[in-house]
Amino acid sequence: MAELFYDDDTDLSLIANRKVAVIGYGSQGHAHALSLRDSGVDVRVGLPWSSKSRPKAEEQGLRVVTPAQAAAEADVTVILVPDPIQAKVYEESIKDNLRDGDALFFGHGFNIRFGFIKAPAGVDVCMVAPKGPGHLVRRQYEEGRGVPCIAAVEQDASGNAFALALSYAKGIGGTRAGVIKTTFAEETETDLFGEQAVLAGGASALVKAGFETLVEAGYQPEIAYFECLHELKLIVDLMYEGGLEKMRWSVSETAEWGDYITGPRIITDQTKAEMKKILAEIQDGTFALNWMKEYHSGLPKYNEYKRADANHKLETTGKELRKLMAWVEGSA
Ligand code: NDP
Ligand code: MG
Ligand code: MG
Repeated sequence: MAELFYDDDTDLSLIANRKVAVIGYGSQGHAHALSLRDSGVDVRVGLPWSSKSRPKAEEQGLRVVTPAQAAAEADVTVILVPDPIQAKVYEESIKDNLRDGDALFFGHGFNIRFGFIKAPAGVDVCMVAPKGPGHLVRRQYEEGRGVPCIAAVEQDASGNAFALALSYAKGIGGTRAGVIKTTFAEETETDLFGEQAVLAGGASALVKAGFETLVEAGYQPEIAYFECLHELKLIVDLMYEGGLEKMRWSVSETAEWGDYITGPRIITDQTKAEMKKILAEIQDGTFALNWMKEYHSGLPKYNEYKRADANHKLETTGKELRKLMAWVEGSA
């Protein structure tokens, strides 16, 4: 079983006695910076002069400096810019401002796990990753609650890095809900696998294939859209609330019977063998290397896939149908 840590296991003074630089002010950055500040931590935000996020951070009462100045002032620097540009920001603004005894924090393990960022030996390398989007992390904190976090240490130079990570998690409300101990490797590999095989990749491919099957058989695309995409929300909400059991309790017995006999014909032993190959390509770094090559060559294939799906009948049909359902847009 996972090891869990709560408020009582955690000493806020560890992070409150440090100077923290939050680099980036997007989904996670704004939540971490504001909640750490409200927990009594000395926070500055690091953003380039040209950043669109600057005015927002300043309006919310934070001191905003450049990433390099923030890292120079701080002894704890948390990198909360998009993963593909973290290595560049690290090289340009952070690396030369790290001193022995400092700590480098992340919200996701990608760049450390695959070696795009290599921190000096005298620096603690920690991760605190909330299991929710930044606006939820912030709202829960303001309401006196918290979003569960996972926390990890890659490099324990001080001998006290995990306690510091827990203290940071307390500063953003994470220990109110519970913090699970993990490693950079486990967090990164499971995150990439989950989003590729199940959440983003698996689910969208399943929806598209189901939709195409019905439309190719001569059924109306609008009807196929409802059956294969729209109603998925109901199913996922039920799973989220009570697992497969609650979903199966709520759907009809006919649907439940179809679930048992048809599910294994869709996700077969061959599918699972492919999942194992996908996991192996994540673990050996092939996926990360190819993705960074694609990103830094200007996203040619990425944009091609994006365009192709934007023109897919599923998407054009959905765009029209959602106009009939005012409550749908932004309901997530
Ligand atoms: P966002 O894309 O929401 O925000 C990125 C921020 O970085 C923006 O404020 C952007 O400013 C700023 N930025 C861009 N370039 C630079 C630069 N060169 N120097 C400094 N700041 C810059 O990122 P997320 O919050 O989604 O992701 C941050 C980290 O958190 C990632 O590691 C991600 O994996 C992780 N994470 C994200 C979660 C989420 O729910 N989104 C959940 C858990 C972890 P500008 O306005 O100018 O573009
Ligand atoms: Mg991810
Ligand atoms: Mg139905």
